[in-house]
Formats: sequence, structure tokens, C-alpha cells
Amino acid sequence: MFDALHPGLFVGGRWIGLDSRIPVGNPATAETVGSVPAGGKEHVDLAVAAARTAFGHWSCTGPGERAEALERLADTVAAREAEFARTITAEMGAPHDFSLQVQVRLAVDVLRAQAALARTFPFSESLPDGPPARVLREPAGVVAAITPWNYPLYQITAKLGAALAVGCAVVLKPSGVAPLNAYLLADCAQQAGLPAGLFNVVSGSGRTVGEALAAHPGVDVVSFTGSTGAGQHVMRTAAGTVKRVALELGGKSAAVALPDADLAAAVGATVASAFANTGQTCTALARLLVPAERYADAVDAAVSAGSRYTLGDPTEPGGHLGPSASPEQRDTVLEYIRLGVEEGARVVLGGLEAPDGIPAGLAGGHWVRPTVLADAKPSMRVVREEIFGPVLCLLPYVDETEAVLLANDCDYGLSGAVWSADTDRAVAFARRMRTGRVEINGGAFNLNAPSGGYKLSGLGRELGRWGLEEFCETKTLQGVR
Ligand code: NAD
Repeated sequence: MFDALHPGLFVGGRWIGLDSRIPVGNPATAETVGSVPAGGKEHVDLAVAAARTAFGHWSCTGPGERAEALERLADTVAAREAEFARTITAEMGAPHDFSLQVQVRLAVDVLRAQAALARTFPFSESLPDGPPARVLREPAGVVAAITPWNYPLYQITAKLGAALAVGCAVVLKPSGVAPLNAYLLADCAQQAGLPAGLFNVVSGSGRTVGEALAAHPGVDVVSFTGSTGAGQHVMRTAAGTVKRVALELGGKSAAVALPDADLAAAVGATVASAFANTGQTCTALARLLVPAERYADAVDAAVSAGSRYTLGDPTEPGGHLGPSASPEQRDTVLEYIRLGVEEGARVVLGGLEAPDGIPAGLAGGHWVRPTVLADAKPSMRVVREEIFGPVLCLLPYVDETEAVLLANDCDYGLSGAVWSADTDRAVAFARRMRTGRVEINGGAFNLNAPSGGYKLSGLGRELGRWGLEEFCETKTLQGVR
């Protein structure tokens, strides 16, 4: 049990114990592994006040001091990486190696990258033309960070690191599904000597704590990552106080194999993206578009690549997949697979049956089979809607014009991929895609590149200097260079 580590809400550098607590379940066993306090509106008020006080001092520090604090925080998290990995595995089911190598180390890398950016960010710029003018980028104030459960620590650090780097203070409302790592991070913030009130954690429901933060007149920016529906709600709630809103929302991203692509590589990478983290990745490539004349080969390749993925005990080392993070998530995924079959898609891998090979003692977990659906049609809900589970849909296209139409025929625009033997051709195709990121021939994720969406996938960008800009106000000084 993890309760002993998390005595209460973390506000103004102090722990506030509460009797009312939210249980946290282990998705592999369905057992309770801990609990966190259920904060209320009054705790949001306390946390915002503490953050406002801390902001007064922190906003006047230099970038070097802020970078050093972030580096100390990164070092503290890195020193406790095994504890973080165990916690994340227990609360959201990511297998141990994935928790350690991706969930935790990515978060540490983000903090380090943002510390480095703090030192180089253009906080002051002289305009070269016209009458003398200087443009300042100043910290916007108190940031409310509202985060989901799928990469819980990384999603917190992407906001926290950028906000602290520019001089803001933060109140975090972590996901109720995977909130334990947030309190470990608070413990690290204290251990790393971050000033009291700079980072506050108030767990609780979205409807209570999340909405109170979005509506709060003392909050200057809401940075939200989660579902599109909840993001729309946050935006409406925040409108009353005209605060800045950054939204990182859902996706249904397309990978496109152009006719001259290395099909095996394209299919293998797309299956890996669709199944990683049990399909619970906002940028997952969940649709694969292939030339009609190579469609049968692509289906065979997807089955062969997909059948190499096994489910297993998340506490064991290895490259297997874990369960869905919650019973609700598992039920949603199964419902979509059922719907896909009803709509006429063909299950070529996985499907609705209970998976075999689940270790003894884990039968109560929220398991779903990694699934590939062939003969998917653009009008099907399994093709159009975010499933957030390990389900890949394969669609044929006749020519590049149709491939562009299909790739863009989606309410979301978060990520994408293009495969071609000719890089220029892939880039030309990528430029026609209405989406915030495109992997060219499997190009790797760069932590200093902006991440965010077109259309219903969001507003604003996280990471790199673009992520820092989200937390700045811009001021012009006239008469000086
Ligand atoms: P969710 O929307 O249910 O919850 C996200 C957070 O918002 C949680 O902390 C929740 O408590 C809070 N919340 C819920 N309703 C709220 C309300 N009315 N007001 C304020 N806060 C509220 O999402 P989830 O299930 O935790 O995460 C999965 C979703 O997140 C998927 O749609 C996924 O695509 C998306 N996501 C997007 C990105 C991205 O960068 N674009 C990254 C990860 C996840």
C-alpha cells in the first residue's frame, strides 16, 4: 500500500491530511493499492493563494536560478526512479520496463530539457526595425495543471518544468486514476528544496477540483491534458475569467504508407505505436492507410507484427503489454471492438475473447487483446473515434489524393506518419496533413520540438520553447531597444 507515502494534499509546502480519500486500484489485479485525499474547493483556494505568494518571489528570480532548481528536481526524481516506476506500474498498469524507461526517464529528460531552455529562452528581445522597442516575455502567474493518467508523470513534468522555467507557480490536479506519482513528485520537490508554494498538489474529482481551478480568478493559465469533452468543459469554465487555456486533447492519428514505402517497416512501426502503453497514447497511430494493391500484404504484415505482442504481469521485466488502466477503459475498448465487427470490420488479430496466457492471480485485471481490424471503412466509428486501447484499423486507398483525404477525414489532428522511399515525397505528403506532428519514415520523438494538435486535438503547444511561451505574457517597452 502506498498511503504512508502520501499523507495529504501538498499545499504551500505542507501536507494537509483529509479523512475523505479516493481509492487507487491496480489494473492488473483490481486490488486497491493506495488512496489519495479528495480535495475540495476550499483546498483549491488555499493552493492558489500559496502559489500566488510563491510567484511573487519566483517571478523575480533569474533564469539560471530557475534552471538550477529544475536540475535539482530532475536529479531527485532520477535518484528515486525505481520507486516512481513501481508506483506507476501499480496505479496504471504499465509494465515495469516501460514504466522505468519511458514513463519515468522521459519525465526526467523533460525536466532537464526545460532547465536548459530556461537558460536560452529569449525573455527580452529588441526589435531591429522602426522606433526603439523591446519585447519582454514575463511569467503569466499561477498555472493550473490538470493531467490524465496515461503518461502521468511525464504529463505533469511537461507542464511543471515549462511553467517553473519561465517563473510561474503551479497548482496540479492529477488524474484520479494515477495520482500517486504526483505526490511522490511533491515529495521530491520538497527534497530538492523548491520554495514552498511553488508546486502544489490537490487531488480530487475533475468536477470539483478541476472546475474550481478552471474558474478561479487567481489562476492565470489553465494547462489541461485529457479528453476532448473535458477540455471543452474546461475552456467554457475558464471563459468567465478570460484566462489563458492550453489544451492537449484526444487523437486518432493516421500512418500512411505511400506506394513506394518499405511496407514491413511501415506496418511494424505502426503496430508498435498503436499497441504501446496498451494503446493508451494520445499520439498513437491508430489508422493505417495503404495502397489498395498492397492491402492484402499489409494485413498479413500487421497480423504477423501484432502477434508478437503478448500480455503479461506488469511487475515482471520484459517488453510485454499490461492491462487497460481501469475497468471503464477496458469496457470502452471492448465496446468499440464489438461495434467495429457490427459495422463490418474484420478482426484479423485479437478480438473480444478473454486473452489467454494471463498469469495466475491476475485474472481479475482489466485485460484486452491487442486487436487489428481489417476492411475498415472511413465512415465507421472505430475509424473516426478515439478508442484509447490497442486497436489498429487498416484502410486501403486508391491514390495519393484519396490518401490525403482519408488521413484528414477526422475530427482530430494530433499526430501522423508517412512512409516513402523518397523523403521529399513523404515531406510533401506530410505538409498536406492537418495535424500537429508527422513522423517521416519512423522519425523519433524530439523533446525540444512542439507537441500539440489541430482541430479537436487541442490548442497551444507543449515542449520546447513553444511550451515555455504558453506560460508567458508578452509586454512591449517603447522607447528602448
Ligand atoms: P479525462 O478528460 O477524463 O481527464 C483528464 C483530467 O481532467 C483528469 O485530471 C480529470 O480529473 C480532469 N477532469 C475531468 N473532467 C473535468 C472537468 N469537467 N473540469 C476540469 N477537470 C476535469 O482524460 P483521461 O481519461 O484522464 O485521459 C485520456 C484522454 O487524454 C484521452 O482522450 C487522450 O487522448 C488524452 N490525452 C491527450 C494528450 C495530448 O497531449 N494531446 C496526452 C495524453 C492524453
